Amino acid sequence: MKNALVLGIGVSGYGAARLLLENGYGVTAVDCSQSEDVRRRAASLRAAGASVEQPAGGLPAGQFDLCVLSPGVPLDGDWVKEVSARAIEILPELEVGWKYSESPMMAITGSNGKSTVTKLCGACLTDAGMSVEVGGNYGTPVSEIVRSGRETDWIVAEVSSFQLEPIKEFRPRVGVLLNLQPDHLDRHGDMASYEAAKMRIFENMKSGDTAVVLDRLADAARTSSQGDNGWLTFGMSESADFRYCDGYVVSGAARGDQRINLKGSKFESPIGGINAAAVAAALYGAGADLTVIEGSAREFVPLPHRMETVAEIGGVTFIDDSKATNLEAMKAALRSCEKPVRLIAGGLLKEKNIESAKELLANKVRRVYLIGKAAREMGAAWNDAVDCVECGTLEEATKLAWNDAEAGDAVLLSPGCASFDQFAGFAERGRQFTAIAGLIKTGE
Ligand code: ADP
Repeated sequence: MKNALVLGIGVSGYGAARLLLENGYGVTAVDCSQSEDVRRRAASLRAAGASVEQPAGGLPAGQFDLCVLSPGVPLDGDWVKEVSARAIEILPELEVGWKYSESPMMAITGSNGKSTVTKLCGACLTDAGMSVEVGGNYGTPVSEIVRSGRETDWIVAEVSSFQLEPIKEFRPRVGVLLNLQPDHLDRHGDMASYEAAKMRIFENMKSGDTAVVLDRLADAARTSSQGDNGWLTFGMSESADFRYCDGYVVSGAARGDQRINLKGSKFESPIGGINAAAVAAALYGAGADLTVIEGSAREFVPLPHRMETVAEIGGVTFIDDSKATNLEAMKAALRSCEKPVRLIAGGLLKEKNIESAKELLANKVRRVYLIGKAAREMGAAWNDAVDCVECGTLEEATKLAWNDAEAGDAVLLSPGCASFDQFAGFAERGRQFTAIAGLIKTGE
């Protein structure tokens, strides 16, 4: 019997452990968390025949043929160092799932827009009459999808740099790189390592596969694949295979002379339009009918906490974009706002170059209401471009923004920062914002 060591039993590690058990592996899983969820998963794994440990020091002794890495386990941490020293093969959960999958995979990565594009790709393939499972970082881990045993025409998976960094043979049939913007540099160290991790999506592609990449990144991406896969570019440049322009995604004659009307949909904006162009290229790579995109885009319900209008009070619109956990996402939100903005920003900064937001702030924002740990640093960097006020908490910021607002303004929560200094996560931050807006509405 082969033996696997699974590092971390969050939803991904748990899925991989179950999949390996079902495929005849002996499984030992480790996790140091005492949380209720982890305890529950540990009990379930033990009941299925695994051994689960909470190592105080080193990892369990014994012979392992494979080590599965959960996305939350850092590659430069003590566990991975020990596994490498013991010469055990390391695979990310994503690749374990992919290995056992019978269905072709469309994998989507990038710094921003992954979930939105994953959801739209899933919807379009479904609308084109195909059977689809959607998951990865977005909801159900790939291992869990594969475990369910349902053979589908496609698995559409959102994949993170953490999942891509340790891959060996992972090879999506269609791989999409949406963009590269500073994010997760605390874990990757610098932009070059982050970029290298993202580019690995193309590394094992071969003939018959399609690599889909933002026009600006095409040259760098081409050097990252050794195979003779196809390439498709998207973006706003004339040379892009799928180009967004004035409410339409268009492709040249070589790509079927498509013209996809996004007018009136959530994707009618430079950011949304480029994301839709990526979807068009991915669908083309998958051999799907692109005409479905118009309907799927029109019916698309945005995911929660992404530019979600959560209240309209006295002509003031409250927009929850709590998912903007880096400055590029915050800048994208500002670009897409047509109303004067009262911006709530701050939290845990992920990047150094915060000056880059100043021009947009000066053009779009009436006042910035700063919260969380980075409030002082952000205020100091921006206050010569825009009026900034330190508010401490989200509640203070939202109430002050509402007091200042005039009819026609938007109060936008687009923090440009991670949330963990004050919240359990971006969703919790967004929910609190909606609740505060609700209280304002009822006059409390
Ligand atoms: P991800 O899964 O990569 O975090 P989401 O679709 O959840 O992406 O969107 C995250 C944030 O990024 C949202 O605030 C959204 O408005 C913003 N966003 C979406 N697409 C882009 C893009 N192409 N460039 C910059 N920001 C984007």
